[in-house]
Amino acid sequence: MWRSADDLQSGRADADRSPEPYGPVSIDRHHKDDGRALTLYTRTDSDAIARPAVAEPASEPHAPAHRSASELRFNELRGEEVVYAIHRQDRTFLPAEDHCPLDPTHPGGPPTEIPFSSYEIAVFDNLFPAFQAPHGAAEVVVYTDDHHGSFAGLAPERAEALMWVWRHRYEQLAARADVEYVMIFENRGVEVGVTLHHPHGQIYAYPFLPPVPALELGADARLGGCAPCSLLARELDERVRIVHENDAVVAFVPLAARWAYETHVVMREHRPSLTDCSPSELTLLAAALQAVTRGFDALFNRPFPYIMIVHQAPTGADGASGHLHVEFYPPLRTGEKLKYLAGSEQGAGTFISDTLPEESAAILAKAIASVL
Ligand SMILES: [Zn+2]
Ligand SMILES: [Zn+2]
Ligand SMILES: [Zn+2]
Repeated sequence: MWRSADDLQSGRADADRSPEPYGPVSIDRHHKDDGRALTLYTRTDSDAIARPAVAEPASEPHAPAHRSASELRFNELRGEEVVYAIHRQDRTFLPAEDHCPLDPTHPGGPPTEIPFSSYEIAVFDNLFPAFQAPHGAAEVVVYTDDHHGSFAGLAPERAEALMWVWRHRYEQLAARADVEYVMIFENRGVEVGVTLHHPHGQIYAYPFLPPVPALELGADARLGGCAPCSLLARELDERVRIVHENDAVVAFVPLAARWAYETHVVMREHRPSLTDCSPSELTLLAAALQAVTRGFDALFNRPFPYIMIVHQAPTGADGASGHLHVEFYPPLRTGEKLKYLAGSEQGAGTFISDTLPEESAAILAKAIASVL
């Protein structure tokens, strides 16, 4: 359901302090009228200056956003937490293009989530958070103020800046005592449940260590060292599933991929998180992620839906290790056919795939090469 412009919790945004430099970007912190944080990231070498929208300050204080707390329940049978965020039922669902809440706020136009007439990258607290302080956080990361486009289509400098934004968010959220795991991700395409088309990703800061990163730590224990390091060594040795690589990053379809075009983008060196990467490694990570996603779009000559997950070291007090890598789970098997999680996948947890990772890798490698 689309909320009317007057309901939108935006309008004025007060600057908290002067912009601070961070790698190639400057950080400009604000708070929205309803108290939610809004941070603008602008490349220091760019001409663009985020200007406050000409919108009049609200005549009455906005009511606080509806931010009822989520409830956490433990599923004993599966040994996992389930989050009940029932307020999310009301969230904006595929609004008309002229009512996009992630667009800049144009003078005379409806207020959006970002009360500036232009911006480069914006991060704000999700209005419909699955997690919120003091039990984690949920943030929206908007890649551009251009409604059309995609991560793959960003200018390389913008994609590089985004790596620094991710790094900063990880750093900020990791420092919080209520955060055990920070997950940066993007859902792209209605096939994976996207509710807004504007190019954006999200960050969830979990107040517990979720099962998938816990499984990866279990793999470290099983393999007697860093699992991504040893799995990467195997891929570099066999060289039959690599789809793209540069000096800092290797991308491959893993040996036991669950999805036809599942792709892992892994740092060559052991880097627990984005904060451990050099500036040039971040630049090369951005380049590799863009190469892979452009290759995805070239694969079937259509916008390619995916779930993109950034896995990094957990941030809890026990200081567990990790190895920065990005996983893509694309649901397409062919240009038209989707993989559905059905009986075996849901009921037994065993994926049945009708394509071999080596064959998918050869096709994807060719598609990536065609767009470089
Ligand atoms: Zn938009
Ligand atoms: Zn490693
Ligand atoms: Zn992973």
